[in-house]
Amino acid sequence: MSSFMSKKRESLVAYTPGEQPKNRKYIKLNTNESPFPPSENVSRAINEAGKSLQLYSDPQCTELNKVTAEYLGVKPEQILMTNGSDEALGFIFAAFGDEDNPFVFPDITYGFYPVFAQFYNVPYREIPLKDDFSVSVDDYIGVDANIVIANPNAPTGLSLPLEAVERITASNPNHVVVIDEAYVDFGGQSAVTLINKYKNLLVTRTFSKSYSLAGARLGFAVGCEELIDDLNTIKYSTNPYNVNSMTMAAGTAAIKDAEYYSDNCLKIIENREYAKQELEKLGFEVIDSKANFLFAKHPELDGKELYLKLKDRGVLIRHFDKDRIKDYNRITIGTKDQMDKLLEEIEDIMA
Ligand SMILES: *Cc1c(COP(=O)(O)O)cnc(C)c1O
Repeated sequence: MSSFMSKKRESLVAYTPGEQPKNRKYIKLNTNESPFPPSENVSRAINEAGKSLQLYSDPQCTELNKVTAEYLGVKPEQILMTNGSDEALGFIFAAFGDEDNPFVFPDITYGFYPVFAQFYNVPYREIPLKDDFSVSVDDYIGVDANIVIANPNAPTGLSLPLEAVERITASNPNHVVVIDEAYVDFGGQSAVTLINKYKNLLVTRTFSKSYSLAGARLGFAVGCEELIDDLNTIKYSTNPYNVNSMTMAAGTAAIKDAEYYSDNCLKIIENREYAKQELEKLGFEVIDSKANFLFAKHPELDGKELYLKLKDRGVLIRHFDKDRIKDYNRITIGTKDQMDKLLEEIEDIMA
C-alpha cells in the first residue's frame, strides 16, 4: 500500500475473483462460465457495433432495455442495465445502505456482498444458513434491514420457492429486498413476476452465465420505477456510459436469440444431473442444485487437496477457504465431455 491510500480504504479487504490462470490450458470449471460460445448473431452484432466506437454508448441503453423489457414482460423504465450484475449490486448498496438501513444476507453466499457493504460503509449482518445449507426463511421475516439473497444461492446451488421470497418481501415493506438471480435460468423460480406487486423488491440478473457473455460484462436490475430511478441517480453520479456499445449490441442480439440460450441451459441441466449422479456413485455428497454448478464433498477426500490435485491434472474447480464449507468444492457444469474428464480424473485420484 502506498502512503497516499486514503485512511478510509486502508482496511478494505477486496473481493477475490476465481482464478483465470494463463500458464496452461485448463478444463475450466471454477467460475460458472458457460461452456458454449455466444450465438453467431451476437458475434455479428459486436462486429457491427465496433464500427461506431468513436461515439459514446447510449446511456439509456434504449434498444437493449426495450427487448429485455418485452422478454420479461415489464416496462423499459423498470430496468437498469449495468456493467455486469456486480455493478447493479454495487449501485444497490450505494443507494439504499446507511447506518439506519443496514444489509443482511446469508453467511454462505456470494462473497461480493460483504465487500460492497464495507466499501460503501454500510453495516451488515450475516444470517447463518441452516445446517442443510438452506436459507432460513423465518430469520428474514420482519428483519428490519435491507436484504440480499442469491436465488439460487451460490456456492450451494439451493433455491428458494417463490412463496418464500414473497413472504420475506411482504414482511419487510420498509426495506429493500434484493433477489440476485444470476443462476435463475438453470431451474430457479424468478421473482420478476412480483415487482409490480411490491415496491421494495429488486431483482438482479446477469448475461454472464446463461447467456455466455461473462467477458462482455452485462447485467441489470429490475424493479418498480422509483427504485430504478434511485439506481439511475447512482449510475449518473459515477459512470453514465457504464455499458459499452459492443456489449449493448451483444446483449440485444442475445435476447433475440433466446431459444439458442434456453437450449444451452437445458443441456447444462442435463449434464448437471448426470454429473451429480456419477459423483454420488463415487461416494460424494452432492447438494441439490438449481444452478450451473454442483457443491460437493467426499467423506474421505480433503476438499482443498482434491482441488489442488485436479488443478495439477488440468481441471480447475473452486475451493473456498471458509471454515463452514472447506470440505466442499464448487464444480461448474460444462459439456458432457468436460464432465466425463472431471469424473475420470477424480476416479484416478481416488484409486
Ligand atoms: C456471477 C455472479 C454475479 C455477477 O456476475 P456478473 O458477471 O457481474 O454479472 C452476481 N451474483 C452471483 C451470485 C454470481 O454468482
